Amino acid sequence: MYRIKPLKQGEIMAPMGVLQILGDMSTLIVAPIYVWLIEGENRKIIVDAGIEEPVDGFVHGFPVSGGGEEGLRKALESENMKPEDIDTLILTHLHFDHVATTNLFHNARVYVQKKEWESAFNPPMHYRATYDANLFQCLEGMDLCLVDGDACVADGIELILLPGHTKGLQGVAVQTEGGKYLIAGDHFYSFLNLNPPKEPVKIEDLQGNKIEIQPSPIPFLPPGLHVDLSEWFDSCFKALSVTSRKNILPGHEPSLVGKQFP
Ligand SMILES: [Zn+2]
Repeated sequence: MYRIKPLKQGEIMAPMGVLQILGDMSTLIVAPIYVWLIEGENRKIIVDAGIEEPVDGFVHGFPVSGGGEEGLRKALESENMKPEDIDTLILTHLHFDHVATTNLFHNARVYVQKKEWESAFNPPMHYRATYDANLFQCLEGMDLCLVDGDACVADGIELILLPGHTKGLQGVAVQTEGGKYLIAGDHFYSFLNLNPPKEPVKIEDLQGNKIEIQPSPIPFLPPGLHVDLSEWFDSCFKALSVTSRKNILPGHEPSLVGKQFP
């Protein structure tokens, strides 16, 4: 059995239109960048490797604080760990805010979907700015495992292919004493995407800013960024076949800071 802890490596500011499709591009929210620690069965697994340190406050045009090697070391030190202690690194996908400290995990076997790997070197035109090969090319010299579809990493740790946000995004299903959890990566940025409101609600970002959200009649609310919206919806239902909604953990959900599962 395992336990999951989202550790904050940095913070990014993005328009609501990134968080929800056709959302307001002038309202900004502050969201966490997580590296996810999975511990148990003598394993130390990290899911995703965070964002770069900002230059003049920005990374790829987004205002960022924290991040980089320092952000990663601080996050791991809170658990008395160093990057070298990690035996397995799972990258949900290769977007710039998920891979920036990959090269520090010297002792880890690294899992990436083959489709994601291929697409990251030749992304669709509208997605070129979301990938930075300088950050993940180092994987060629590491213990890289390219996975083709759903796969088992260890007893109780499964990779679940969830295309839509990117061509080869994978979630990580983790068996815990509280049942099976699914780390969804950017398939769902926040609970807003997973549980669209049925009446107007206010959500809160990391800085306590409150943003009003209008009700949505659809079962899932897509983020603003995707390569294939039909595939994205199919992957939502696939995620629900893995575990129930209450055990799905969105990739940038502000309310998960400091939490652990179960
Ligand atoms: Zn992404």
